[in-house]
Amino acid sequence: MGTVRERARRGAAGTGVLWTEALLFGATEALHDYHAGPGSFRATIAALRSHGARVSTPVTRSNFRHLGELPPLMSGLKVSFWRLAVVAPSRDPDPVAPRLAMAAPHILRALARAEAAGLQARVAGLPLCLMGPYADRSLPPATAAGERCRGCPAAADCSGVAPSYLDRFGDAELRRRPAVRLRQAPPELSPLIWSASDLP
Ligand code: SF4
Repeated sequence: MGTVRERARRGAAGTGVLWTEALLFGATEALHDYHAGPGSFRATIAALRSHGARVSTPVTRSNFRHLGELPPLMSGLKVSFWRLAVVAPSRDPDPVAPRLAMAAPHILRALARAEAAGLQARVAGLPLCLMGPYADRSLPPATAAGERCRGCPAAADCSGVAPSYLDRFGDAELRRRPAVRLRQAPPELSPLIWSASDLP
């Protein structure tokens, strides 16, 4: 079982594959298959080795400390783009979603490591106030909803935090910050892996 999905669109000339997207949870078989099921890591790596894809990594409580191991792995595969998508809680208590302030330094280190290896990377689901000097690598959509987000100059481009996260942890991790001009990302990204209930 792999986690590679082809995104297709029917056009005048018929159906064509626009891009292929793979979910990659970790750089080891144990960590990836813990999230995606037995056999998934080998199938996903084989697909990335043979024909390549964009990669999305749902950031969970179990894998955020290991995100920095992924860029060296991906640099040996055919990966055209990397999206780190922070998973939001889907229920309470939720064993999957990470605390944002704990995960943020690991996400930013992994992002820096990817860029140093020549891989374009973006982050979804992490508020701009936790993106430090990498705020312009954030992905929309804008869903900022915390009490502290009201009047924040960056709110129009900030992914904010999910209401389910606010319900559980509050908004003490959030800080108003200056507006950010986001860098462009590849068009037609698939919908976000946003909630723990969306995972395989
Ligand atoms: S305080 Fe501002 S930067 Fe932080 S989550 Fe809210 S809108 Fe985003």
